[in-house]
Amino acid sequence: MKEHIFLASPHMSEEGYEQAYIKEAFDTNWIAPLGKNVTEFEKEMAEKLGAGAAVALSAGTAAIHMALKAVGAGQGDLVFCQDLTFSATANPILYEKAVPVFIDSNRKTWNMDPGALRKAFEKYGAVGKRPRAVIVVHLYGLCAQIEEIAEICREYQVPLIEDAAESLGTTCHGKYTGTFGDYGIISFNGNKIITSSGGGMLLVNTPDAPERAAKALYWATQAREPARWYQHTEIGYNYRMSNIVAGIGRGQLRVLDRRIEKKRYIFAYYQEHLGRLAGLSFMPMQEGARSNCWLSCIQLEDACPVKPLDIMKALEEDDVESRPIWKPMHLQPVFAQYDFIPSRDLPGAGGLVPGKESLRVIDEEMGADDSIGGQLFCHGVCLPSDTKMTDVDLERICGVIKSLWQGKRVE
Ligand SMILES: *Cc1c(COP(=O)(O)O)cnc(C)c1O
Repeated sequence: MKEHIFLASPHMSEEGYEQAYIKEAFDTNWIAPLGKNVTEFEKEMAEKLGAGAAVALSAGTAAIHMALKAVGAGQGDLVFCQDLTFSATANPILYEKAVPVFIDSNRKTWNMDPGALRKAFEKYGAVGKRPRAVIVVHLYGLCAQIEEIAEICREYQVPLIEDAAESLGTTCHGKYTGTFGDYGIISFNGNKIITSSGGGMLLVNTPDAPERAAKALYWATQAREPARWYQHTEIGYNYRMSNIVAGIGRGQLRVLDRRIEKKRYIFAYYQEHLGRLAGLSFMPMQEGARSNCWLSCIQLEDACPVKPLDIMKALEEDDVESRPIWKPMHLQPVFAQYDFIPSRDLPGAGGLVPGKESLRVIDEEMGADDSIGGQLFCHGVCLPSDTKMTDVDLERICGVIKSLWQGKRVE
């Protein structure tokens, strides 16, 4: 019988580091509330990435929420947010009753298009408005044009929040994602590159990082004032990571580089074995960046005789999990009322490659449109990228996919 293959699933260290940290917590009865694992996990992560400070929280979503609090985003404030992403990036904007403006991606990076970001600044600047923050995402571990985006934010003096939930370990010119923005966030959710069973971390990179981190910690622990009794002057949240969860995270951090190596191997394997299939292309690798290859994703161009759904169905029949690309936020009913800044007609902005307009057909059933994000969505597939896969598993997956091309004529 063939075994089920996951898209990405928890992969504990071969050495049992996680259990050793948990055992220590049990032995000292530091199950809760805090304890050494939490503070050490923060210190180890900040050191590894070169972040100013780190705060361990219950989820990556909570970390985005705290970053938005830190920049003072409140009722009616604008937040420029990457459009092509998971909804967790945008939801906290609404928790604070701020107003998202969604910014399209480009094909060069699949992430926020700097030209569209500039267009948003100009459009709202013309009516005297400036956003409280920009939220950029490093989707699937692909590096956004982060240096350029950070430069635009500096120019307009607007704080940058980097959603590095999927890109832990990705670097741009040797610097880790999550450390370019004033704030960065990472996630340890079950299918991320390392997991603590669930959790997240806020990274603070401002010159006053320790004070900013302390403030986020205060909000995340019910906004308790330093008084002998329970005294509150602000609304707080119960977002702190537990000492047990942090123990798993510490163990996982020790094997992060090993997991990244395997993710890159998986991507290279797919490139080698599927790279010659007509109409199939891989997610783009930016020059100067090194992706953690969290998920290996492909695009099937219009001329391709095989459609994304064909691949997902065939894999499913073989008990192999795969997924579509994230559906852009401006196409989600819950966010449909908010402004969207498209990039497709911007000069060189990763609109369509001139003379190679191969992504024109729009899947209306999926609710896609002709934005760059909409096209990436309806032409893409995330292939299984579980680090526990063997070469036999990869061969099996590639065999299923390649068989779909057999006997098909390329238009
Ligand atoms: C997973 C994820 C999050 C949220 O992280 P959680 O820890 O699940 O709350 C945010 N943004 C992106 C892009 C993600 O993939």
